[in-house]
Amino acid sequence: MTSPLERTDPEIADIIRRELERQNTTIQLIASENFTSRAVLEAQGSVLTNKYSEGYPAKRYYGGNRVVDEAENLARDRACALFGAQHANVQPHSGANANQAAYMALLEPGDKVMGMRLDQGGHLTHGSPVNFSGRMYDFVAYGVDDETEVLDYDAIRDLAVRERPRMIIAGATAYPRIIDFEAFRAIADDVGALLLVDAAHIAGLVAGGAHPSPVPMADVVTFTTHKTLRGPRSGAILSRSDYAAGIDKAVFPGLQGGPLMHVIAAKAVAFREARAPDFRRYAADVVQNAQALAAGLAAEGFRIVSGGTDNHLMLVDLRPFGVTGKVAQEALDRAGITCNKNAIPNDPEKPFVTSGLRLGSAACTTAGMGPDQMREIAALIGHVLRAVDDDAAAADVREQANRLCSKFTPYPEGA
Ligand SMILES: *Cc1c(COP(=O)(O)O)cnc(C)c1O
Repeated sequence: MTSPLERTDPEIADIIRRELERQNTTIQLIASENFTSRAVLEAQGSVLTNKYSEGYPAKRYYGGNRVVDEAENLARDRACALFGAQHANVQPHSGANANQAAYMALLEPGDKVMGMRLDQGGHLTHGSPVNFSGRMYDFVAYGVDDETEVLDYDAIRDLAVRERPRMIIAGATAYPRIIDFEAFRAIADDVGALLLVDAAHIAGLVAGGAHPSPVPMADVVTFTTHKTLRGPRSGAILSRSDYAAGIDKAVFPGLQGGPLMHVIAAKAVAFREARAPDFRRYAADVVQNAQALAAGLAAEGFRIVSGGTDNHLMLVDLRPFGVTGKVAQEALDRAGITCNKNAIPNDPEKPFVTSGLRLGSAACTTAGMGPDQMREIAALIGHVLRAVDDDAAAADVREQANRLCSKFTPYPEGA
């Protein structure tokens, strides 16, 4: 039997079918990705996409919002309950939009902001010159210690005392260690700065109790809902109630038009899933799996940046193998292992080449893999990267990756 999509648009139907097959049959190690539940997919693919709801529950610009208001209220209440926050705005379309709205609420153009160096794990929205953040605000960057490769809070304090920023951003896109939000709060208080935590990557670990929560420490917390939190592709903002009106105004009408009610409903589903006891187990397993993968890779001869991981991701220094991040990513792709090249601290290579890989365990853990599979994957990665030009090795690993995925399939029931 053919589906409505297959009848209307066989080309897109075929692309979706082939992407599902790719997700089901190759190993996904991109640290920012995950596999959402069927329930999340169903909510996101629903008729709620049809509704225009500019404004907020009970204060909409259009009629007919009585029903979808309930979805947004559930999403907001569940986000507050899940993270122990006073206020939640669930309308940002993405993590980048959430950051933009938070900056708009808290800053004036030209204000000085401290964020993590982009080549040491910070995000584009933390002051990249090609991003709105770097053009609108005066960013100064802090980084990791050259020796330990972990955040040096004394150095961050010295920089804050020197620069007197209006706001400090804690949070990263490629940092494998626990972030000490208490230390950041103390530094912010010392210099009279606001503290924004960008919890995009770790939101699911925080929700599941596997990483300390930034919520009691930060003025505002932004996050994505699709990384470790395992919801739909989207963003959200948590704040103390004194910032609530400013944040809401910045999201709408400040930056966005109508909210994506189908995605907001899917976020509500994800927040509910993340409150269930098995999500705590999931978050702990994600960290355990990341540590098993890092240990396996170290045993293969790779250098793990900072010596290991406390969260869902690791940075792998490929220089002992004499390959660049770019070459490694492409070789692994041919072998059925999906990951991304990533700069390591003080990387001698250009950003498009790099000396490292960023690997994460969130998706594999959702698929049901455990430490044994992580060690197996580490061995497969070692096998590929010891012989990056060897087509037979790639084909052999691809077959082994397929076999592994046939036992740990994210969507076994198909489309
Ligand atoms: C992923 C990420 C974002 C942006 O999220 P998008 O949904 O891709 O816009 C922002 N900040 C950090 C730290 C991230 O890791």
